[in-house]
Amino acid sequence: MDEPYRSFNSFLRKKFGGKVRKIPVNAGFACPNKEDRAVGGGCIFCDSYGSGPIKSYDLSIPEQIENFLAGRRGEKYIAYYQAHSNTYAPVSELRRKYELVFNYKEIVGLFIGTRPDAIAEEAYPLLEQLNKRIYLSVELGLQTIHPAGLRYLHRNHTYEQFLDTFHKLKERGIDVVVHLIIGIPGETKEQMLETVKEMNRIKPAGIKFHLLHVLKGTLLLEAYKKKEFKLLEKEEYIELIIFLLEHLDPGIVIHRLTGERDREIFYAPAWALNKVEAINAIRSKMKERSTFQGRLC
Ligand code: SF4
Repeated sequence: MDEPYRSFNSFLRKKFGGKVRKIPVNAGFACPNKEDRAVGGGCIFCDSYGSGPIKSYDLSIPEQIENFLAGRRGEKYIAYYQAHSNTYAPVSELRRKYELVFNYKEIVGLFIGTRPDAIAEEAYPLLEQLNKRIYLSVELGLQTIHPAGLRYLHRNHTYEQFLDTFHKLKERGIDVVVHLIIGIPGETKEQMLETVKEMNRIKPAGIKFHLLHVLKGTLLLEAYKKKEFKLLEKEEYIELIIFLLEHLDPGIVIHRLTGERDREIFYAPAWALNKVEAINAIRSKMKERSTFQGRLC
């Protein structure tokens, strides 16, 4: 392998024969975890945009797509329904919103971000049909397999619920990308490794690694200001990611190596704002050490 890990960009280049860009979309869905205030007010790290795009947040889906495409020619795109839980609505609404991507011939893929407990039984046939018409990927937020970590983050779902949804998607041939957070307060390196080993067992199509970071307007910011936990330093994060990649099945595509959020709502750690520098440091250290994804798997 030329690259020390199986990157999403090279995966896309191989699949589509060129560069493919993602269009971040707020499709106007809600999140069940935010609606039920009795269980913690949503995930502790979640901002009011539900991890979606902030600048185009109030625009319609076509406006968001067309603004992104304006002035660009000859490229391919993936529409990424990113904000909140993009399967959390009646099937008729899901169908109407998903169908919009077929109005754009440049769009070759649809990525749907959601929670493990937010896909109704009736939605699976729709996802299965979509998967036959476009490159579909469902992104499931998991963050960790450990109950204490899930509790700390106010995820309000279990690992078993995740597994149930994961298998329902996988048995329909739908690619699943799993989101994991590194640096959850109280979680040890061994526990992070256990999560990675579990990924090796279930084999998702891809993984997004996120550094635990603090955004404005979140419950996590309140805990951070009270000094209830410490964030990872850049070097610590780099070493942890290399360690986890070395143990990760080389067939799993790495969609992301660290978190990414707009400066306007970002609080800490400051080093995480320079995502490119962190990724370059991970790559060059892995090359220097002649190590690679799966070396210790
Ligand atoms: S499930 Fe997603 S949208 Fe909902 S509260 Fe958690 S991070 Fe936010």
